[in-house]
Amino acid sequence: MLIKCACYAHAIEVVKEDHGVELCMWTVGHDPECRTLRDRIRWAWHELIGKKGWTDECILDADGAEKLARILLQYSDELKGTK
Ligand SMILES: [Zn+2]
Repeated sequence: MLIKCACYAHAIEVVKEDHGVELCMWTVGHDPECRTLRDRIRWAWHELIGKKGWTDECILDADGAEKLARILLQYSDELKGTK
């Protein structure tokens, strides 16, 4: 699940793994299926010149915070085997 930052330039990706939950912060557009060829070339250039493809902050509005809380609780319950 991808939860977008209030600025629309970043996102938090929430992935349930076998033994926990992985949180990754991205600049929006990291998903290859959502990017055009131009975007992918621009992204590759961005990486080649040493800029990072991830971010270290993400601001969630009320809806984003609620969405994150709900998915974390859902994954927590699933990992504990209670759902
Ligand atoms: Zn942002």
